[in-house]
Order: sequence, then structure tokens, then C-alpha cells
Amino acid sequence: MTNHKEADPDRLAALDHAHLWHPFTQMREWAAEPPLIITEGEGVKVRDVEGRWYWDGVSSLWVNLHGHRKTEIDRAIVAQLSQIAHSTLLGCSSPPAILLAERLVALAPPGLTKVFYSDNGSTAVEVALKMALQYWQQMTPAHPRKTKILAFSLAYHGDTVGAVSVGGIDVFHARFAPYLFPTFKANPPYCYRCHLGLTYPSCETACLTDLEEALRRHHDEIAALIVEPLMQAAAGMLAAPAGYLRRLRDLCTRYNVLMIADEVATGFGRTGTMFACEQEGVTPDLMAVAKGLTGGYLPLAATLATQAVYDAFLGEYPEFRTFFHGHSYTGNALACAAALANLDVFLHERVIDGLAPKLAGLRNALAPLAAHPHVGDIRQCGLMVGVELVQDAETKTRFPTASRIGWTVSREARALGLLTRPLGDVLVLVPPLAATPDELTVMVDILHQAIVNTLGGRRDSPAVLPSRSDTVEHGR
Ligand code: PLP
Repeated sequence: MTNHKEADPDRLAALDHAHLWHPFTQMREWAAEPPLIITEGEGVKVRDVEGRWYWDGVSSLWVNLHGHRKTEIDRAIVAQLSQIAHSTLLGCSSPPAILLAERLVALAPPGLTKVFYSDNGSTAVEVALKMALQYWQQMTPAHPRKTKILAFSLAYHGDTVGAVSVGGIDVFHARFAPYLFPTFKANPPYCYRCHLGLTYPSCETACLTDLEEALRRHHDEIAALIVEPLMQAAAGMLAAPAGYLRRLRDLCTRYNVLMIADEVATGFGRTGTMFACEQEGVTPDLMAVAKGLTGGYLPLAATLATQAVYDAFLGEYPEFRTFFHGHSYTGNALACAAALANLDVFLHERVIDGLAPKLAGLRNALAPLAAHPHVGDIRQCGLMVGVELVQDAETKTRFPTASRIGWTVSREARALGLLTRPLGDVLVLVPPLAATPDELTVMVDILHQAIVNTLGGRRDSPAVLPSRSDTVEHGR
């Protein structure tokens, strides 16, 4: 449990050795390699300026759901364009913004009845944090000492300074320590490398003990707990054990601390249900959504709140209880129209119901990877997958950072026609929900082949690689 105050020089010096957490791609590598310039997309593939097609194995950074150039979303944006592209939500509203808020409330965990728009995941988180902090000041009776946030080590909630304050990935965040607001940090469940040296499920989620202790001792100072439900994504796809989220909810209730669910990565079907919180029957007090909200088309985000949170912002004019926060493009009409069409696709195509065979197919396709000597762990939650590569699977020893294994494998996968991203030495596969079981199998096969090409070992059958020049034969 730490309280960030200063940039710790030892911690910064250690960054080069923070094996798992070096940035997605280092600047020098990025500048030296030929740029990948995407000009077109169709279904679950994108095409580069040279005419090569790639499987979009990261859903264009976890945003795309129904494939590229989805007719219904394309049309909805064009239709909205013929009305108006944007008008401010500062003191006004617009039909798409109103309709979308209604739809979100109907879909969200019960009790989240209020919607505040912004324009990306980081701002949706900032909004949730600021609301939580202001809430306790304006409660009756006020709780002026509740000024801190309890967050997880290895968490990622975005790149704005408030979101960085509650982040815990040193290589992204440690440099900014002197400028961040104070937080309490708890260890997340990283079962493959349990910091307590225990094994799930016999551990009985003992990692919650420290967190509970922090709440017991400091709940008077803690405004909110923020969590990425079910899966800490940017940390390397760390899946939480069953029941963990529910227990967090219960602890927040017991210690009178607001719960903020950051569903930016996990929302909109990514974990197999519309929202991850549903899987454990959890209603957070605040919930941030973005990424998939528009089906991966346009920047839009929302922070949902309970009536109790909302009520704390009502008062007489001179009290100035308003939540004074807003962005120029908040609730952009084109983006809201895209989001409405996105939700229509979920409804009409019964997308969530159709996920079960895909998830099972993905699990089956991933299973043979486990036999590779350098695959340490495979973590899957819905359509979010992390494959952790290790030098020695027996001892879980990491590769030296300088060997850039994750980066090298992802470049090999790209050469084979799959876009993936390394999070350190964790290879990430987050395909669009629209991918068929066969397409998911091909993506996993390519990833497997890229691992074999880079690290040796063998596969029982060769990957079915897409022809570089083929046109898209799948999709909508
Ligand atoms: N929260 C989580 C859990 C995320 O994974 C991300 C981005 O990956 C963010 C917040 C930030 O979202 P954005 O990139 O839209 O600012």
C-alpha cells in the first residue's frame, strides 16, 4: 500500500528492467520501422497503403465491435450529418444525446440512472474521480476528509493526469509522481505471479486481505475505489478470479466508499456480457464507458452515476453544487448517432447471445499454445486475451527486456497478416465481436506461428495465412 508523492529515482532507474511494463513500442523502434498506414477497413480486416490486408486482432485498440464499415453505423452517421454534426451540450441537449442516455441507463447495471458525457476513456474516468471527490464534500453530513482514491497497482485508467494518478504501471506513470494526487494502492490479483506466492483457488482470494485492511484503517479518508472489472487490461490482461468483483462491491458498501467501475475496455460485450459488472451482479456507484460505445467509430464517452450521487450535486443557486466540468465536444451528435446504431446492432443481431460459441472456439484455438515452451500463461476473459511469454515456463523467468520478445513476435505476426500488440512480453488479442469462430481460429493460428517463428518450437499444423492481396471474403 503506497501513497505516491515523489518520483523515486531508483524506481525510474529500474524502469529499463521492469520487464513486463515497457511501453507498447519504444520511440526509437517506432521511428526506425516502416510506418503502417491504414487506408481502408472491411469486416474484421484492415488494409494498408500498400494494399496488404491484416486481421484487426486488436479491434483498432479495443474499440471496434461489429467490424469496419458496418452498414447500419455508416448510415446512421450520414443521416445525422444531414441534420447537424454538433451542437453544445452546455445548457442544451440534442435528440441523439437524450436517446442514447436512455438506452445506456436501460442497459447498465440497475441503479445507474444518470449519464454524463465526455469524449474519451480518460476523461470518463476523470469525471468519475472528480464526481466522487465532490460528492463527499457535498453530502449531508459532509465528509471533508474523504479525499483519496484507492486504486490498484498495475492499473491503467488513461493518460490524463487524474487518470494517471490512479494508474499503477510504473513505466507509464512513475515519472509523473510529483504531480499526481495522493492515492492508496492495493495489489491486484495477478494469479500467475501471485505476490503472496499462493495458488488459486486454494488461496481463497487472500489478496483481498490487504485491500480490506486498507479500507478498515483508512475508509475515513477514502472517497472511492476504482477498478477495471474482471480484467486489468493494459497491465497484461490480468483476469480477476470469480467472485472478486462482488467482494470488492461488498467491501465498498461495508466501508462507505464509492465504487468506480472503469468499463472503458471491458464494456460493450468485450467480456461476454454487455458490461463486465453484470457477471457478478454488481452495480457500481459510478461507471466509465468509452471505446466500444460508438462501435469503434467516433470518440465518445460517458460516466454513469446513481441517483444518490446525482442528488449530492443539487442545491440552491448560491451553493454552487454543480459539477463544473465539460468538454467542447461532449455528447457530439454524430458520435451519439453512431452509438445508437451500435446499440441497435447489438439488439437486432443478438450479438451478446451469439458470443458463446465464439468464446468457446477462441478458448479451443488457444489451448494448443499452452504446450509451447515459452508460453507461460494464457488469460482469456470473453474476447480479451493475453498470452504471457516467458524465457522459462518452469520458473516463470521473464525474458531480458532488451530481447524485446513481445515486440518481435508482434512484428512477426504483422508480417503474417495479423495486427496484435505487445504489452511487454504479453501478446494481446482483442478481436472484434463480429469475428466468426473460424476467423478467431485463424488469428490465433497466426499468433502461434509468429511465436514459433520467433522462438522456435513447433506447431502441429501450419497456420492458415491470409493471402496478402486477398479481398475480404468475410465480415458483415
Ligand atoms: N480505462 C481503461 C481500462 C483503458 O483500457 C483505457 C485505454 O485503453 C482508458 C481508460 C483510457 O481510454 P482512452 O484511451 O479512450 O482515453
